[in-house]
Amino acid sequence: MKKNKGPWSHRVLVVIFTILFSLLIFWLLDFAVDDIGSIPGPKQEDVEKKFLSPELINQRDSIDRQIEELNRDISAQRERQSLLRDSTSRYETTLTQLLELQKSNSQKGMSTGQAQQQALAQSVSLFLSNQQKDQTLSDDILRLTEQERHLTDDKRAIDGKLETQRKDANEELERLLRSHNRRLAALKLLLLIPLLAVALFILSKKRAGIYSPLAYGAGIAILVRTSLVIHECFPTRYFKYILLSAAILAVGYTLVWLIRMIRSPKPSLLLKQYRDAYEAFFCPVCDYPIRRGPRRFLFWTRRTVGKIVFPAEPQQAGEQIYSCPACGSRLFEQCAKCGGIRHSLLPFCENCGSEKALVAQAS
Ligand SMILES: [Zn+2]
Ligand SMILES: [Zn+2]
Repeated sequence: MKKNKGPWSHRVLVVIFTILFSLLIFWLLDFAVDDIGSIPGPKQEDVEKKFLSPELINQRDSIDRQIEELNRDISAQRERQSLLRDSTSRYETTLTQLLELQKSNSQKGMSTGQAQQQALAQSVSLFLSNQQKDQTLSDDILRLTEQERHLTDDKRAIDGKLETQRKDANEELERLLRSHNRRLAALKLLLLIPLLAVALFILSKKRAGIYSPLAYGAGIAILVRTSLVIHECFPTRYFKYILLSAAILAVGYTLVWLIRMIRSPKPSLLLKQYRDAYEAFFCPVCDYPIRRGPRRFLFWTRRTVGKIVFPAEPQQAGEQIYSCPACGSRLFEQCAKCGGIRHSLLPFCENCGSEKALVAQAS
């Protein structure tokens, strides 16, 4: 009742700093949880090493190397072939020219010279030998390509086998990861739940007293981080039940609190209601005007109560015991300490300042 609330600016600052305090605590917890989360788990290579047969991998690697070599050979042969074809086409041109020359000579009735005959024979023989080399190279390329196809087929078969083994490895890896994540979640909860329990304990026992904003701030931060961890570790299917149960509990608790507030309001709220009613000269219980003393024959509402002009009447017997004529509640009574007239529903006597317990009046 006598709690000093302090100026509103300080109350606002308390709220702001409480929020800041919760945010900082949340941040700290976040770091701790992240550090726990960075503990290394199972590695894909390790699991695959266990599941993939090293023989098959060796075979595949050697086939890969062979295929690479073959490809190199094939492209070298192709290059040779293309160079050869260049020279062949040059011989072909020379040959055509020589033949043209011979033809025109014979038309003119001139015999072809010895040198020309020789050049022609040489060109023909070179051209033919080039053709033969070209054929050999083509055969070679064909053979190499055939080999490569065989190797690729082998490799495909091995890859198929490896794929089956890899599937097993992936299943195992997934299982390991799941259990690793569960272990991390357990560690995180092992950190958070004791903290949450401490915060709840302090709050439930009201140990924090006037420092309860600190406990509330820390408690909320821990609670949010904990629920995030739970959300991460448990599949959403379970999480929605946990979340809904918590929400139902919270809403139910709030509802109970509201109902209790209405049934038996908190003293501070009750006092405020009584104070405001006395201030406007209305019965705090039923809102009927308190017509006593100089107000005996007046009419007012809560809006006009301050504008009433009183008839110039001597201070008359307003100081009397008074009960509400509408509901019968005692509104002014004799003080038990000093015998003066005091408000029945306010805590302190206006004459001597003695306090009496505030009782809720049934309305
Ligand atoms: Zn009344
Ligand atoms: Zn008194």
